[in-house]
Amino acid sequence: MLYYTLKVIEKREETNDTVSLVFKQPGLKKVKYEAGQYLTLIFRINGRRYIRPYSFSSAPGVDSNIEITVKRVPGGIVSNHIIDKVQVNDLIETMEPLGDFTFNNEYINNNSHVVLWGAGSGITPLISLAKYALHIKTVAHITLVYGNRSAESVIFNDTIHKLKALYPSTFLTWHFYTQLYVENENPYTIKGRIDAREVLAVIGKEKKLNQTFHYICGPIGLKESVKKALLEAGVDESKIFSEDFQIERNPADFNDIVTRNIVLEKSGQSHEIEVVKGKSILEAGLDASLELTYSCQTGTCKVCKARIKKGKVKMIGMKLKEEELQTYECLMCCSFPITEGVELAID
Ligand SMILES: Cc1cc2nc3c(=O)[nH]c(=O)nc-3n(C[C@H](O)[C@H](O)[C@H](O)COP(=O)(O)OP(=O)(O)OC[C@H]3O[C@@H](n4cnc5c(N)ncnc54)[C@H](O)[C@@H]3O)c2cc1C
Repeated sequence: MLYYTLKVIEKREETNDTVSLVFKQPGLKKVKYEAGQYLTLIFRINGRRYIRPYSFSSAPGVDSNIEITVKRVPGGIVSNHIIDKVQVNDLIETMEPLGDFTFNNEYINNNSHVVLWGAGSGITPLISLAKYALHIKTVAHITLVYGNRSAESVIFNDTIHKLKALYPSTFLTWHFYTQLYVENENPYTIKGRIDAREVLAVIGKEKKLNQTFHYICGPIGLKESVKKALLEAGVDESKIFSEDFQIERNPADFNDIVTRNIVLEKSGQSHEIEVVKGKSILEAGLDASLELTYSCQTGTCKVCKARIKKGKVKMIGMKLKEEELQTYECLMCCSFPITEGVELAID
């Protein structure tokens, strides 16, 4: 894993609860990333280390600096720290770019129609993909479907307008507003939550829907409703990509979980930790003040991978398929002990 120390050169307010941090590209060790990937920021706040991923809102080959955009989560430790405390000239430690929510797919080419579905802060990787696709001409058409409370909560309003003015025949946007909707003539500005069927009915008049590609980023409910509508409309699952900002857990999966002690071996040293029911092994380790390395916390990136030496764990909410891990591997962010005597090891 590569690490960078990046300097904040601008802090820009996007809406009343969202800021963008602009980092200078280092002169020598440049941060190489793909549109749609994320940067993992590492902070020390009140003596404890916190690690959080943030999608790039900049696009490689388009923006000379690196940008991420952070929305305030009520009570959230890092988002509030970034919005209230981080200042221009601060140096922030980051991991190398990660993530596969990108155009790196063998079937996408410059004839493709890509539809980007997002709500709230889910716009960040989507704007990176849109800028990249439009400026670098990787695809033929981009449709952005963006849901918000009101026009005031639209992040990147100016950028979206500029892209529409520059690429009127390639870039189309739909806005859905759940509140504070102002009556207007624009058929692509609609009151309510994102209605994927309505959008697909229009796109389907011009294109064969099974030839379109779909990128979804937003709350869990959005992903589920858009995916359902896409599958019903005949879009193949292999053409639907999603990025989750939060892990999805079904409470029923916790029925057989109880509080247990486990042993975590880190760099040859053993630590006994209590994994309280409901907390993952990663969360329990962090609560026990272990400096563990992790990133997405959604069971995707594999940064918190551990080796199972003894006992059994259950993985809940993991986005990866179990086949993508070796037999005795688990991801600590979504692992819960289900037998006594669990022992894990990390390097
Ligand atoms: C791949 C990836 C990319 C991401 N990109 C972005 C991005 O571009 N912009 C951005 O603002 N955030 C992004 N996030 C979310 C971000 O990493 C943090 O999870 C978020 O900022 C909250 O962190 P916190 O420390 O403030 O909250 P925490 O202290 O971790 O959590 C406080 C409470 O808020 C809840 N919570 C955590 N995350 C969210 C959330 N996203 N929405 C609502 N409630 C939440 C928690 O369950 C908890 O109850 C991304 C996450 C992932 C996995």
